Amino acid sequence: MTKTFAVIGDPINHSLSPNIHNAAFRELGLDCTYIAYRIPKGELAAGVESLKSIKISGFNVTIPHKVEMLKYLDETDGNCKLIGATNTVSNDNGKLKGYNTDMDGFLDPIKKRNITVKDSNVLLLGAGGAARAIVVAFIKEKAAKITIVNRTKENAIKLAQFAQKLGIDAIAKSFQEIDASPKHKFIVNATSIGLKNEPSPIPKACINKDTVVYDIVYMPMNTDLVVQAKKNGATIIYGYEMLLGQAVRSFEIWHGIDAPYNTMKKALLGGF
Ligand code: NAP
Repeated sequence: MTKTFAVIGDPINHSLSPNIHNAAFRELGLDCTYIAYRIPKGELAAGVESLKSIKISGFNVTIPHKVEMLKYLDETDGNCKLIGATNTVSNDNGKLKGYNTDMDGFLDPIKKRNITVKDSNVLLLGAGGAARAIVVAFIKEKAAKITIVNRTKENAIKLAQFAQKLGIDAIAKSFQEIDASPKHKFIVNATSIGLKNEPSPIPKACINKDTVVYDIVYMPMNTDLVVQAKKNGATIIYGYEMLLGQAVRSFEIWHGIDAPYNTMKKALLGGF
């Protein structure tokens, strides 16, 4: 019987996940299909029931359900529990298990470039679900210090407290309090800034040729932050690389075999 997979969220019609996973199924000749399924905020319980009734094999979870989905899981893996959000769910005869592949997906392009995280100084923009997974990723790789900057400073303070509890030096700042000097090895944008072509939220003086600028916004690929960072000679990591990294890990959790990375990458880039 054909196995069905899905991505749930709202909005969902521009999701690139169906392209990526269906290309992998074609490449490996798997009898599987992957669909985008819109579940509006407040309708998650009914949505999960309908996924169970069609015997969904697994699904990805995106905005706005990554945290609320925890309520409907029978089991959670370590990263999912620690981060407090899930983006990948498997269904074993009606038993739902949650994972979080955003963290390893985030680290994947850093590792592919052999960039060292250990002892580094990080400037992280954002304090939402993705930022939380990224904080855990930097802690796992033993970064020295994280400065969390967010529009709503209160949320940055909460995330900094979470980071401190996990044993890292962390402080919260507002955008106005960012020092205009290149003292951070990593600058990561985990806010929605850039989605609508907004100007870079970082003073140019923060970025030089030794900075790694990682913008997890993937549409557009060249956000203004990326364009400014390129001008200053920084190393750039694109949001699509994290998207690909998390998709590859979700695939491997569901299918228990190596994902066809290059096929998935081609399908993803073809979606732009
Ligand atoms: P989220 O939980 O809703 O958090 C949104 C974050 O963006 C919050 O920090 C929020 O600040 C900030 N923000 C929203 N609009 C803003 C604005 N106009 N100005 C300044 N800050 C603003 O969402 P999320 O899941 O963390 O996702 C954040 C971004 O990452 C989205 O663009 C998403 O598409 C992208 N993402 C990419 C990948 C990937 O694989 N590349 C994976 C996950 C997410 P407040 O606290 O002030 O509201």
